[in-house]
Amino acid sequence: MKRVAVLLASVCFVIGSGTFLFAQEAGRTWISDVTIISPENLDHISIGSVLIENGKIVRVERKVGAKVPEHATVVSGKGQFLIPGLIDSHVHISSIPGMGMVPDQLKIDQPLGKSFPQHETMVDDYLKQLPRSYLYYGYTTLIDLVAPFPQELNDFRHQPLHPDLYSCNPSMPFANGYPMSYAPPEMRFKGFPNFIYDPAQAASIPAEYKPEDHTPAADVARVKASGGICVKTFFERGFGGMRNLPVMSPEVLAEVRRAATADGLVLMMHANSFEAQKFGVDGNVDVLAHGMWNWGAMDDATGLPDEIKSVLDQIVAKKIGYQATIQVLAGLTAYFDPDYLKMAAIPKVVPAEMLAWFNTPEGKWFKKEVNDDGRPDAAVLNGFQRGPVHHVQLVVGYLAGKDANFLFGTDTPSAPTYGNLPGLNGYLEMQQLRKAGMSLAQIFKAATINNAREFKLDSQIGTVEAGKVANLVLLRKSPLESLDAYDSISTVWVHGVALQRESLAAR
Ligand SMILES: [Zn+2]
Repeated sequence: MKRVAVLLASVCFVIGSGTFLFAQEAGRTWISDVTIISPENLDHISIGSVLIENGKIVRVERKVGAKVPEHATVVSGKGQFLIPGLIDSHVHISSIPGMGMVPDQLKIDQPLGKSFPQHETMVDDYLKQLPRSYLYYGYTTLIDLVAPFPQELNDFRHQPLHPDLYSCNPSMPFANGYPMSYAPPEMRFKGFPNFIYDPAQAASIPAEYKPEDHTPAADVARVKASGGICVKTFFERGFGGMRNLPVMSPEVLAEVRRAATADGLVLMMHANSFEAQKFGVDGNVDVLAHGMWNWGAMDDATGLPDEIKSVLDQIVAKKIGYQATIQVLAGLTAYFDPDYLKMAAIPKVVPAEMLAWFNTPEGKWFKKEVNDDGRPDAAVLNGFQRGPVHHVQLVVGYLAGKDANFLFGTDTPSAPTYGNLPGLNGYLEMQQLRKAGMSLAQIFKAATINNAREFKLDSQIGTVEAGKVANLVLLRKSPLESLDAYDSISTVWVHGVALQRESLAAR
């Protein structure tokens, strides 16, 4: 309703001054007597009031009893906490939980996902709920790192209510490498047309793709021209059934680095192993898009080996953005956890029909992919816990002790799993980060100011300050006292439009 009023207001604006007054009224909100928690100012938390006008924060009063501005809708924030809207800087909105990154255009089954044409309506309903689920958990800005078909990003942006969406598209995999390797050879170049050419593989690259059109500089220019704010590339030799994938050399990474710097784009690298993160650190990437859970030859070590510590020390020294994405692992183990689908939060973020489907044998197809040798559920869970989960916890704990530049990113969904659901996955990721040793303040900053600064969005978002976009979240509890606060949301503002949390839940 409010949004309709705002739209009407902007139409009325040009008609006459009488209606202009109405525009001001519709777009003016005074949030009073609220505890303002803004990440640049955590040493001076105070009760005050915030004025929103036409989608922007125009005034922040850090004192009690400031005079209510004229013609403003007053929202009492008494006893509540106001924070900037949360930012998740690693999502994949065109990937469907429990199905995968199966672009409609392909209609094929592949290891990265399964096509279920008979469930098209269910998927459509999910896509309508998707932006609302992010808002339900307070996420007002998202960055999509890989969307093979950008139409889905446009569809998202055309939903009536949605978080702001930025992207690194089109992503830049190394020729025939991860993740284009998941698509069959005849399809992968269409799905990932912005790949980096490799002369050594000329025989396995279709002739229509010319080397000069696929240099790092040409690819980065294409990201820039598409409106991307970041470059997403990959260093991954493979896992599961797919191994020995081609990866780029340090020289190629250096070219990508130069081009990204020249075009003013943030350079992000998919890297979850010791080898890959060392490669990224040596090549001065801006952001490592995963935690280090694969230690290679050191996998059997119980503590954190010195060799790993020295790479982590460089991550800290170079202020490389670190997305721990621990929920990637939990997303895989969800199939072996008897309680996961029973969580009361799930019906809030996915339509009932989809949840019912997750509970069917067909809806659990991905379980076999994760556990192809049919081990007992408890053994699978235990294996993850003792291996990759333990590794990434040690790494995150070490980095937290050095106050690394953590960026909050969930990689939702990171696989064709129902274990990474929009919005809720962020809340679960926060719990993982806390368990691994990050403080509440570190988590709060990672999801607000750190992300805003790293992606050069800090003139717009990331704090509660005059001049910023009015993307705000009102909480019943303080996020500096408990993580539950992020599940105690009462109101979310997107560009100044107030949304009651319950109205965003799936029906
Ligand atoms: Zn990802």
